[in-house]
Amino acid sequence: MSQLSLSEMISGVKYTQLVYVAAKFGIADLLKNGPRSPDDLAESIGANRRNLYRVLRALASLGIFAENQDGTFELTVKAEPLQSDVPESVRVRAIAWGEEWFYRPWGGLLDNVKTDQPAFDRIFHMGFWEYLGSNSEAGKAFDQLMTTNRFSGDLTAVMSTYDFSGISRIVDVGGGQGWLISAILKANPDMQGVLFDRPTVIEGARRLVESEGVSDRCELVGGSFFESVPAGGDAYILRSILHNWNDSNATVILQNCRQAITDGGRLIIVDNVLSTGNDPSSSKIADIQMMVILGALERTESEFRGLLDASGFRLTKVMPIQNRSIIEGEPE
Ligand code: SAH
Repeated sequence: MSQLSLSEMISGVKYTQLVYVAAKFGIADLLKNGPRSPDDLAESIGANRRNLYRVLRALASLGIFAENQDGTFELTVKAEPLQSDVPESVRVRAIAWGEEWFYRPWGGLLDNVKTDQPAFDRIFHMGFWEYLGSNSEAGKAFDQLMTTNRFSGDLTAVMSTYDFSGISRIVDVGGGQGWLISAILKANPDMQGVLFDRPTVIEGARRLVESEGVSDRCELVGGSFFESVPAGGDAYILRSILHNWNDSNATVILQNCRQAITDGGRLIIVDNVLSTGNDPSSSKIADIQMMVILGALERTESEFRGLLDASGFRLTKVMPIQNRSIIEGEPE
């Protein structure tokens, strides 16, 4: 991550929404087979011709699509990742960042800093997870966004850094659609797994776990980790879970893992660990995202140590990987 100029920071809002509109309409997919005119595009997607043209022209000035002499628009290298079916597609991400459930809370940061009420709750009159649970389109979009985490570089980093040998039953707590547990099970053919998440998420997880060929070794369980987590695992992995919760909620989640874990089991947390100093840090920006959507936070190593201590675990190792860290604990 590099530092942005002050003027880019001041007006960042414009770019998110321009790219969002292109991604939402699937313009890059529509240009896959060659250039098309704005009128033709507007007709395909049911948009206002003139305004669509103006958005495309603005994007083209930023290197996303290019306007030809004959008035048609075509793909550019910078626009290619906005296609749906390319290996490094960012379309799901570009859509999520422009949707109201991710976008509007940033507009409430000022009040959030004044009052500590999460901006999301103030705007939508309910919490983030409740919103995703009751709005199936948003819920699906969020689950898809989390599944794109498999391309974040974490997966390779986790698999090459952490030694999963010796684990016989691993529970992925809040594992989303199951990209991580599928990869762990694929790499460890004798291991059994449990994917645990909210019931609405688990409904959508079967397809991925089946397509990864591990459904015979992966139990799918819906529930809430504030009630309990599936018992009898000798490893509990939590990726991007604790940063969604304040300390008291995070402690309850960990205490429930402590209740469920077998003797000699291990806790494996994959999350951001905040560094000191002023270097550019995506974690420190993610921390504010956690503030506005969830009233939650990213943590320092000593804050993680405190959470584990309060929940009956002892922190044994911190292993930095690409953007995040693996924090290992064992029951005390
Ligand atoms: N581990 C995944 C998903 C992280 S997003 C990944 O790294 O990609 C956080 C996950 O926590 C979501 O899948 C969400 O559905 C789940 N979650 C939120 N509240 C939960 C609850 N009360 N019980 C179980 N899972 C929950």
